[in-house]
Amino acid sequence: MTLTSNNQQPTTNNQIRVRFAPSPTGNLHIGSARTALFNWLFAKNNKGTFVLRIEDTDRARSIKEYEESILDDMSWLGLDFDEGPGKGNFGPYHQSKRFDLYKKKVNKLIKEGKAYNCYCSIEQLQTEKKKALVEGRPPRYSGRCRKLTEKELSDLKDESIKPSVRFAVKKDVLKVDDLIYGQISFDLEEISDFVIQRADGSPTFHLAVVVDDGEMKISHIIRGEDHLSNTPKHILLFDALGYQQPTFAHIPIILGPDRTKLSKRHEAAAISEYRENGFLPEAMINYLSLLSWSPPQEQEVLSREELINFFEISNVSKSPAIFDIDKLKWLNGQHIRRLSDKELAQKIKPSLESKKMLAGNNKLKLIASAIKDDLITITEAPDYANVFFQEEISFNKEAKKYLKENLAQQAILSFKELFEKSSSQNLEEAKELLKQHSKKLKRQGIKGKNAFMPIRLALTGSYSGPELFYLVSILENEKVMNRLNQALNLG
Ligand code: GLU
Repeated sequence: MTLTSNNQQPTTNNQIRVRFAPSPTGNLHIGSARTALFNWLFAKNNKGTFVLRIEDTDRARSIKEYEESILDDMSWLGLDFDEGPGKGNFGPYHQSKRFDLYKKKVNKLIKEGKAYNCYCSIEQLQTEKKKALVEGRPPRYSGRCRKLTEKELSDLKDESIKPSVRFAVKKDVLKVDDLIYGQISFDLEEISDFVIQRADGSPTFHLAVVVDDGEMKISHIIRGEDHLSNTPKHILLFDALGYQQPTFAHIPIILGPDRTKLSKRHEAAAISEYRENGFLPEAMINYLSLLSWSPPQEQEVLSREELINFFEISNVSKSPAIFDIDKLKWLNGQHIRRLSDKELAQKIKPSLESKKMLAGNNKLKLIASAIKDDLITITEAPDYANVFFQEEISFNKEAKKYLKENLAQQAILSFKELFEKSSSQNLEEAKELLKQHSKKLKRQGIKGKNAFMPIRLALTGSYSGPELFYLVSILENEKVMNRLNQALNLG
């Protein structure tokens, strides 16, 4: 007999139910965030349900702070869940609160002869394992306790040894149609009877995950490729427990720039680091989406709505993705350019304030507009905005020499005269003023760079920076005058 995973698509869209099931043993990192995103996109694209389940069966390693930070990061990324802690009808959504259910299911499996008590001690198992390795065999459980006689069983019970529970694997070939990897065959000969409940009564990952996916009516399991080897065990359990089998889609791994699996060892693998370092959630999910998925028409800068519309799990490739920070930075810049001045102003405000660069809303909006095209990350804003806040301007030797020249002095003087005459400078007025300045100087035979560079240098002390009209309109009139005078005094 060949078991084939039951991969029928649910008949109506509203039956699509996917889940993201993080273990709160660390922060949300790039890989799990992408898994969450693909599940979320798949749910949104199919008008399905996105479930968040906290897999905290490992009591020692599961930490509340990690759970909170995972939830925070998901909310920052905008990956809102339809069901999860605090909402939904399939809860509780913490595995630690579902132990009674797991026990019930294990007992049922034992009663039906699909699982059995195993009394082997750790020492016994280790000896067996060592022997297998020495003999060049794969270290698999021998199945000893499966074959215990009634008499042996009752003797062991009398010794009051607490047994673990193992699933009795039928030796067979199992085929799975994975939405990304296509058909995969697993030889169950290679899978020994695996533990589903530990001697202390706690469920193993395999049991808990299948019971939950079954009970929560999960239609599609979209998860990292690192779980592929668990899939045959899970299919066996779905079958044994009488649950409808979900469709599987395993996503390829993400490699670091050194082509090893992206992990905590790599710089900035945690989402929170990007959040703190001035990346936008829009850019982050856009970038994560492109890790092994390709949008149609090769359009790479995509909004959240576009991602939802275009996402197709069948367009996810089998090849590993390579994490490329430069591309993420480029996308971040692109998403910054897409923000309105008002939105960008709100985003840069905290980093400016942290550097004591205080400004009202209008000024902030102008600054946002002035620096928008330069920014790669939000946290860089103070570097670019500094020019609007610095109190003192100093000139290096070269700038001093340039400003002392007659041509520069003439340009500054001419501009000063115009500037003095016009009292307020909104952006349009500033542009107009600079146009007049250029015309006036042209009549005196001074053109282009010679007309504008002296003003820029006088106002900022630097040869580059934001457009001059921003400087003229954002800097207070008095500051502009002082700086023009300071430069004129050099002459
Ligand atoms: N809790 C598992 C993990 O964090 C996910 C299990 C699954 O997706 O099936 O890797």
